[in-house]
Amino acid sequence: MKSLQSSLTPSPPQVLPEGDQASPLDLAVNPGCNLRLFKAGETIFREGDEADKAYIIESGYVEIFVGSGEEAIQLNVLGPGDIFGEMGIVDASPRSASVKAIGPCRCMVILASQIVERIDASSPIVRLMIAMALHRNRAFNTYLRAYSKSAHLGLPSPALTERSYTKSQQYQTILDSIKLESDLQNAVANHELRLFYQPLVDLNQKNVVGFESLLRWQSPTRGTVSPYQFISLAEETSLIVPIGFWILEQACTDLKRFEHRLAQMGQQQRQLFVSVNISVRQFQEPGFFEQLMALTQRHGVGPQQLKLEVTERVFLDEVEAIATINQCRAAGFHVSLDDFGTGYSSLNYLERCEIDSLKIDQSFIQKLCTSERAKILVGSIIEIARRLGLPTVAEGIETAEQRAILQALGCEVGQGYLFSQPIAFADAIALL
Ligand code: C2E
Ligand code: CA
Ligand code: CA
Repeated sequence: MKSLQSSLTPSPPQVLPEGDQASPLDLAVNPGCNLRLFKAGETIFREGDEADKAYIIESGYVEIFVGSGEEAIQLNVLGPGDIFGEMGIVDASPRSASVKAIGPCRCMVILASQIVERIDASSPIVRLMIAMALHRNRAFNTYLRAYSKSAHLGLPSPALTERSYTKSQQYQTILDSIKLESDLQNAVANHELRLFYQPLVDLNQKNVVGFESLLRWQSPTRGTVSPYQFISLAEETSLIVPIGFWILEQACTDLKRFEHRLAQMGQQQRQLFVSVNISVRQFQEPGFFEQLMALTQRHGVGPQQLKLEVTERVFLDEVEAIATINQCRAAGFHVSLDDFGTGYSSLNYLERCEIDSLKIDQSFIQKLCTSERAKILVGSIIEIARRLGLPTVAEGIETAEQRAILQALGCEVGQGYLFSQPIAFADAIALL
C-alpha cells in the first residue's frame, strides 16, 4: 500500500504501541452492546458501503485508505479517542474511504440516529458548512483514488467533482442570509438603524396616547429593510441583545423629546408612552432587568412610560424570561402581550402569567368586516380582557368601519394605517 503521507506529508505511526492491545477475551463481539471489537487486519467498512454508524476508538489503531491492493493509498492512521466513519452518517452518503483495523481494536459505536436528529435540528448555516466540509473531504478522496491509478495527475482540481449543493435554491437562500447577517453586524456599527413610530390612538377620545417603536434598517446597499426580514436573524445570532439595548436607549431619548414637545405646547400634564418590542432572547440575557433600570433612570424615564411588548413565545418554557418579565412588572414597567390569539395556547398563558394589556393580532382585525366569526372572537377577547381588568389594543386597523366595530365592542386603543403608518421621529413629533 502506498502511503499518502509518504508522498504528501510525513508518515503517521503504523505500529501499535505496546500495552494497547485488546485482550483476546474482548474479541468476542457482544451483540446488544454498543462496543465493537475488531481483529487485526479486519475490514471495518469499504468504499461505497452504506453508512449507518460511526465509531470512537477506545483502544487500538485503524487505517483509513482509498483504492485497493497495490494501488491503495493510506490517508490516515487513527488511534484512541479518534472518531471515524462520521462523514457518511452526517449526510447519509456512501463511504468514500475504507477502514481496516491495524491490530485488535475496540470501538464504541455511534448510530446514525444519534447524530442525524441533532444535525437536522441545527441552523441551516451550520448544515451548509458541514456539507461543504464533507464535500471537500470527499472530493479529495475521489482525487486520490484517481491519483493511485495514474500518479502523473496534478494537485486536486476544484473542477474534479461537481459541487451540486451550490446549485440548489436552498444554498442561495442560506448564502443570502449569511450576507444579510454580516451586513446587519455592520449596520449596528455604522448607525444604519432607525426607530420609526406608529401612533396608538384612544378610540373614544381620538387622541394619540403613545407610540409603538418599530425598527428600520436604512442600508446603503439594500435600501429600507423591514424587521420582518432581519429580526429573526438577529434573534438567532443573539445580535438582538446589543440591538435591543440600542433600541431602548433610542426609545428613551425620543420619549424625552416627545415630552419636551408636549411641554412646549403647554400640555405637560399629558401622559405619553412608548411601546418597545422585546424579544425572548433579550429577557434571557443575564442582567437585562438591571440594565433596563439603569438606562431608564439615566434618561429620567419613569417605568410606567415604557411598555414592553412581548409575544406568546415568551411563555413557551422560557422560565428565565418569565422571571425577568415579573421583575420588570414589579418595578412598574407595563407589559403588553403582542399578537394575541395567534399562539398555541393564548388563554392558558393569560392564566399563568400576569400582564398589563392585550394586543389583538392584526389577522383578526383585518377580517372583522368580512367574517362574523372573527367579529365574535374579537368581541370575546375584549370581554375576557375586560373581566381580567386588562385594556385591549387592536392593531392593523385600516378602515373606519373596522374602527367603528372595535369601538362598539369596547376596545380602548387602536393602531393601524387608518391613523398613520409607522413614521420617522420628526414626523411623529409633528403629528402630536
Ligand atoms: P409587530 O410588533 O406586530 O408590529 C406591527 C407590525 O404591523 C409593524 O410591522 C407595522 O408596521 C405593521 N402594521 C401596523 N399597522 C398596520 C396596518 O394597518 N396594516 C398592516 N398590514 N400592517 C400594519 P413592522 O414594522 O414591519 O414590524 C414587523 C415585526 O417586527 C413587528 O411586529 C415585531 O415583531 C418586529 N419588530 C419591529 N420592531 C422591532 C424591535 O424594535 N424589536 C423587536 N424585537 N422586534 C421588532
Ligand atoms: Ca409589537
Ligand atoms: Ca403585533
